[in-house]
Amino acid sequence: MVNRNTLQRRQELLKELIDGTYCRTDPLPKWVPPTESGRQDLASRIEAAAIVLEQRINENAKKPSDKRKDPDKITVSLTDPIAPLGRDKRKTYRPLYTVQFMVDPVSRLIVSYLCQASATDAGTLAPMIDKTQKMFGGQLKRVLADGSYCSILDLTDACDRNIDLLAPPSASGSAAKRKSRSGEIQIPREEFRFEASLNCYVCPQGHRLAYLWREKKMRMGDRYVYQSTYQCDAKFCEGCPLAERCLSGKGPRRIKRIEGEEMLEAQREKMASESCKTLYRLRGQTVELSFGDAKGNRRVDRFHGRGIERARCETGLLILAQNLLRLDKLQQRAISLGKQTA
Ligand code: SF4
Repeated sequence: MVNRNTLQRRQELLKELIDGTYCRTDPLPKWVPPTESGRQDLASRIEAAAIVLEQRINENAKKPSDKRKDPDKITVSLTDPIAPLGRDKRKTYRPLYTVQFMVDPVSRLIVSYLCQASATDAGTLAPMIDKTQKMFGGQLKRVLADGSYCSILDLTDACDRNIDLLAPPSASGSAAKRKSRSGEIQIPREEFRFEASLNCYVCPQGHRLAYLWREKKMRMGDRYVYQSTYQCDAKFCEGCPLAERCLSGKGPRRIKRIEGEEMLEAQREKMASESCKTLYRLRGQTVELSFGDAKGNRRVDRFHGRGIERARCETGLLILAQNLLRLDKLQQRAISLGKQTA
């Protein structure tokens, strides 16, 4: 993985070698391929990587100053330029691809899959559903997924496609663990009531947190959500008996709310019902076995080739193998059942 300076240096050196204008006497660095075709190949990969790196640097420049990285620390992979960089399950910093399976809970066959250049599962639910529906030429009625597929955008996508999504919305982890002035965990926002008709929150002491402003927050791809900020009046917070546990900084208490959060609240209520709990248990007993099989038995925790095409091929082969083994098991079971009933 290289930054802009290294990339430019390599690009210049390669160009000189390819053009035949290289006249330095020092030995060539080890990253330079020995053959002409290898150098041409590397030059085209560097060209692709330079475009991706420029995009990353431009996106970084648009971020607020407290979230902006030093442009010299933004890097790109020369073998997998389109793959975002991050830590894998072994905590190794590297290019990442994510893989999704759609598994039929009855036969436990993997009916479709996705392998794409992203570091997280965010934004992959809708493409997975669309691909499955296209392959089968039909409409999925219900999809069971884990909490990482239950954002407001995922719920909107499922609703737009008329699909019953059974997935538990994940708790707001960092906010739930935020420390207050006293050093204890801050009173969580769940203890504040949202008044939709007045567009405000009401705190445990009964005071209003008034609407302040609304910001656009970018999500996966070019999708976005709106986040509103609410704030209590400083005069209430200053003399409040709960201030030490409620406030984290100097100012009055603020709460942020993503537009459409009522969908998450409704989903939490839905998932707490007995019927949904029973259905969702099915996922752990069936679908998770396919993931466990891939990771545990076939040791799929990293790809063995470079580039998205090889990653997709490897995923496809893995699924083919898993499905063949599963079909064999189903066939064996059918034969033994046939013998028992004969
Ligand atoms: S500190 Fe402010 S927001 Fe928190 S409970 Fe007291 S008055 Fe309400």
